[in-house]
Amino acid sequence: MPKTKYIFVTGGVTSSLGKGIISASLANLLQARGLKTTIQKFDPYINVDPGTLNPYEHGECFVTDDGAETDLDLGHYERFLNVRTSQANNVTTGRIYQSVIEKERRGEFLGKTVQVIPHITNEIKERMQLLGSTGDYDVVITEIGGTVGDIESLPYIEAVRQLRWELGRDNCIVIHLTLVPYLSAAAELKTKPTQHSVKTLMESGINADVLVCRTEHELLDEIRNKLALFCNVKREAVIQSIDADTIYDVPLLMLEEGLDRVVLDLLSLPDNLEPDLTKWKAFLSRYKNPKHHIRVGLVGKYVELQDSYKSILEAFIHAGAVNEVKVDVVSIHSEHLTPKNCTSKLKGLHGLLVAPGFGSRGIEGKITAIQYVRENNIPFFGICLGMQMAVIEYARNVIGLKDANSTEISEDTSHPVISLMDEQKEVENKGGTMRLGAWDCKLTPNSRVHEIYQKDAISERHRHRYELNNAYLDQLSSHGLKATGINPETGLAEIVEIDAHPWFVGVQYHPEYKSTVLAPHPLFSSFVQACSQYAKTNK
Ligand code: GLN
Repeated sequence: MPKTKYIFVTGGVTSSLGKGIISASLANLLQARGLKTTIQKFDPYINVDPGTLNPYEHGECFVTDDGAETDLDLGHYERFLNVRTSQANNVTTGRIYQSVIEKERRGEFLGKTVQVIPHITNEIKERMQLLGSTGDYDVVITEIGGTVGDIESLPYIEAVRQLRWELGRDNCIVIHLTLVPYLSAAAELKTKPTQHSVKTLMESGINADVLVCRTEHELLDEIRNKLALFCNVKREAVIQSIDADTIYDVPLLMLEEGLDRVVLDLLSLPDNLEPDLTKWKAFLSRYKNPKHHIRVGLVGKYVELQDSYKSILEAFIHAGAVNEVKVDVVSIHSEHLTPKNCTSKLKGLHGLLVAPGFGSRGIEGKITAIQYVRENNIPFFGICLGMQMAVIEYARNVIGLKDANSTEISEDTSHPVISLMDEQKEVENKGGTMRLGAWDCKLTPNSRVHEIYQKDAISERHRHRYELNNAYLDQLSSHGLKATGINPETGLAEIVEIDAHPWFVGVQYHPEYKSTVLAPHPLFSSFVQACSQYAKTNK
């Protein structure tokens, strides 16, 4: 392989067309043909990373092993490719400007006026080629966030235009994802928005090589021919992306449409091997043919927006497929849960997951829900804030420490069972300062988690400031809530569990980030199995 090939994916007409899924699906097909492929995302907003964004703004913040707080599309990349991403895979305008301004302060521009072209575009181009320059990849797919024509996307589009000249057309192509809307009054699919969007791209000097058209109805030949004619692309490079039952169908739909073939041809890459999708298809078949359904409650405070808990929902899909059950996730708003309505709201559930989160809103609802499932022997899984709330609930209702709390919620509680580590007390900035990324954890022999992971030591990703206060470990343990995973470096408790309960596990880390289609997370698989068991015995 002579050198890395670059594929850029831009979006037109509207946002939310699913550039991330198209990029991940194409990457999946190229990977299944034996090409080493990675995906990166360039976001045009000015936040240095999405770590400071409210989930309502931008959905979940995905965390990588190296501790980067990134766009949720990186989660899709990992789930589709089963390979790890890193800070280099997600760049924002804020990060680009921060770096250019730091260089300017160091005098690196030697007295020149610092401008969008060439300084900002050079920084963008350098980062666009960073992963490619490692020599680790045959293909780098870059998703450009936002919609073509937005003011903030312009420097990225300009950088792509320049790169196409520098690298040559058979090393660098552009896929444009657009919408072909159906007007029911006219009973017709309309190509005009796509034509305009392609024209907007052309005004920036870029001719799209491939059009991927999101549509609710089949694109007939006539429409495909028209799009090819008006938009300067080959007829076979007009790809239909019709609404699918599941995002995991998209690679197969793209294969049927020949997206991978068109791309290989444009990039002068050999097209002699069929993609091997055996395992992917096996997953789909298990996922689509469940033997039974289970209902799992997801208690959180951002439940109005599904994207807030993206990785958790996807991890349930992977774990469901392993167990051949369909997991129906029932969203429960923690703010609306009270001791009075708890029984009616949680009735009929076969398991409960209490989600991660920040701040005090909805906290008491989470604690109430945990008490209910603990006392009623319903499988419980607490993640990060969910684990912290399980510790508080236990301290209050089993040990009898009535005002036990986290210092995040109540700074002057007399029983700070969850508290801030000393290093965190000095922290002033909010961005990038939590305990982030992969940390090691030693598992206690003979514990439930040891049995689940089948390992003595694990590494999982974190994103939090507060910790289980070690001063309470002995008391918790003697009352039955045991710390069964400890960070060997800091001695911090990462896992708690109750022996005398069918399945009660709280983890300080985020297992959902590491669940992929081909490697479902063992904790999710085991939790779903316990919920299925509960469903069988509690019909
Ligand atoms: N707010 C809690 C902390 O910072 C939990 C964070 C989370 O759930 N990700 O420790």
